[in-house]
Amino acid sequence: MSGSPAVVMRLVASAHTVAEKAGAIVRKVLHSGELGIVEKTGANDLQTLADRLAQQSICASLSRSFPKITIIGEEELPAEEIKEDLIEGGHSEEILQKTCPAEYSGLKEEELVVWVDPLDGTKEYTEGLLDNVTVLIGIAYKGRAIAGVINQPFFNYQLGAGASLGRTIWGMLGLGAFGFQLQEVPGDKRIVTTTRSHSNKLVTDCVIAMEPHEIIKVGGAGNKIIQLVEGKASAYVFASPGCKKWDTCAPEAILHAVGGKLTDMHGNAYCYNANVKHMNSAGVLATLRNHEYYVSRVPQSVLQALKSD
Ligand code: AMP
Ligand code: MG
Ligand code: MG
Repeated sequence: MSGSPAVVMRLVASAHTVAEKAGAIVRKVLHSGELGIVEKTGANDLQTLADRLAQQSICASLSRSFPKITIIGEEELPAEEIKEDLIEGGHSEEILQKTCPAEYSGLKEEELVVWVDPLDGTKEYTEGLLDNVTVLIGIAYKGRAIAGVINQPFFNYQLGAGASLGRTIWGMLGLGAFGFQLQEVPGDKRIVTTTRSHSNKLVTDCVIAMEPHEIIKVGGAGNKIIQLVEGKASAYVFASPGCKKWDTCAPEAILHAVGGKLTDMHGNAYCYNANVKHMNSAGVLATLRNHEYYVSRVPQSVLQALKSD
């Protein structure tokens, strides 16, 4: 590779290290025992001190290194001076060494939008279901999710002391995805993964309509996409509003980088421009393979209730 690295590669390389720092913050707050839980819209929509500090860390770190990028974070926080020890200025050297796909090599800072979910699976975090928790940093260009980083702060926590805790997965269109072993659910087995804390009749009707051999209910959009790429589930089905752009941008980029697909329940793509509405109102349907099958099984009642943007 000649010349200086492409802006988008520098951004992904920074986001990788920034997500690791956020993951460390999420662990530290848990160990402090003082979660500082606040209800946002209700008891199933929570914010903790970890959500707040991780978002401050991610947004302040990325905007210091990339001042012209638009960054949209989940949490509404008062504008205040960010403590210097929350700032992460490092980057992944391994990512910087990769060759940027030609179509993205000339992108400018001001053309990029970063969607940040500082802690995905907050409800599960407060309940001790720690492997459901992820930190999500998604990068969009011209409305498309083109790269993403997922940090899983408590990966391996069941193994107890001594095991190395946490991991970071990342991916980019045209490059592939890294930090895990890509696996598929064997044969024609349909394993559907869905929400455990935001279900309703539409969600369950839609899951049943897929004729699954098995249903898994876990927290987190990031966590469910990891299940798809690691061969634990064939489809993520959530026929309801509730997920937002920061939940799906990073996971979508990683899934698409390995040939999967994330759409609304009609099979239509979501757009990640800076000015889009945050809610994914027409639900989330994600698969590694056979997306058309799952789209074709979505009941009429769901299609009528959830309109595409
Ligand atoms: P879940 O699969 O329930 O963990 O949801 C995935 C993501 O979407 C999480 O960030 C949830 O907080 C969010 N989400 C889904 N449904 C809702 C809802 N009804 N209210 C608030 N957030 C939701
Ligand atoms: Mg989330
Ligand atoms: Mg969150």
